[in-house]
Amino acid sequence: MNTWSDIAEMQPMASKIITNSIKKDRISHAYLLHGARGTGKEAIAILIAKILFCTHKTGVDPCLTCNECKRIDSRNHPDVHWIEPDGQSIKIEQIKNLQKEFTYSGLESDQKVYIIKGADTLTANAANRILKFLEEPSKKTTAIMLTENSQSILPTIRSRCQIIDLQPLNPRQFQQKLNDAGLNDASARLWSALTNNLDEAIAWNQDEWFAGARRLVVQLVEAFTDNSNDVYLFIHNHWLPHFKERAQLEQGLDLLLVAFKDILYYHIGNEDALVIFTPDERLERLGMYFSQEKLITVLHDLLGAKQKLKQNVHPTLVMEQVTLQIQR
Ligand SMILES: [Zn+2]
Repeated sequence: MNTWSDIAEMQPMASKIITNSIKKDRISHAYLLHGARGTGKEAIAILIAKILFCTHKTGVDPCLTCNECKRIDSRNHPDVHWIEPDGQSIKIEQIKNLQKEFTYSGLESDQKVYIIKGADTLTANAANRILKFLEEPSKKTTAIMLTENSQSILPTIRSRCQIIDLQPLNPRQFQQKLNDAGLNDASARLWSALTNNLDEAIAWNQDEWFAGARRLVVQLVEAFTDNSNDVYLFIHNHWLPHFKERAQLEQGLDLLLVAFKDILYYHIGNEDALVIFTPDERLERLGMYFSQEKLITVLHDLLGAKQKLKQNVHPTLVMEQVTLQIQR
């Protein structure tokens, strides 16, 4: 996504709002880009930065080939700085260091850009520090904050930002793109349930680890009905050795969510939506075991488990707790 018309295909409103302000030379001093993963937050932030620095822009689009554009792409531009959470939050030291760096290295122009990923994790102190910086009228500073959860952003920050809500991706469009890339319908449905990123989906589709993960998910769901005494052993002997990293565990929980949603789709007769299971005797048996009411609780429990992983609860504990909850 290199131009505003690329962005407009996915985010027509956001593209219109921002290009209008570029045309009027009224780029905001602070943007809050709010949208789910894969909705284009970073691509938009990069384009805003480029249009501020590009030396050969045409209209609202940067040239993409000048030194400024290239350095922004390689994340080496001295006046465009990226900030990401350090562990669970963005701390005031990170902002202080950045401001120090800007004071020394900002020789090229007055213009500075902060791109802040996971802006909902800014501590109150860090947020206030940024606000002070933004309010100095002599400075040409632009802050672009990215978040999946704008409700968690401090009101003092929200009120000073131009908030741009990005629209969720249309899953059908994404599935079509996956089909065009050579994936069959079932795989396209699976990957569109797990990611919005085309390259990621195609890579995962060829990944042995993922094939194994998918098998384990089916086995675990069936273990609840067949040998519920063995679930605990299954988690320790098969699940945890496969889903080692925290990111993998999150994907495991995502796959379980998809699998349990399938059983729910079976109940409501929406068999076209099935991702992991096929409409057969096995799914029928799972449908008899898990009532609609129970499935709603299970989905809720799985979302709770994902939240706990994010809060750094030990993965073994998270999996033990959630399997107990599902068995209850
Ligand atoms: Zn350029």
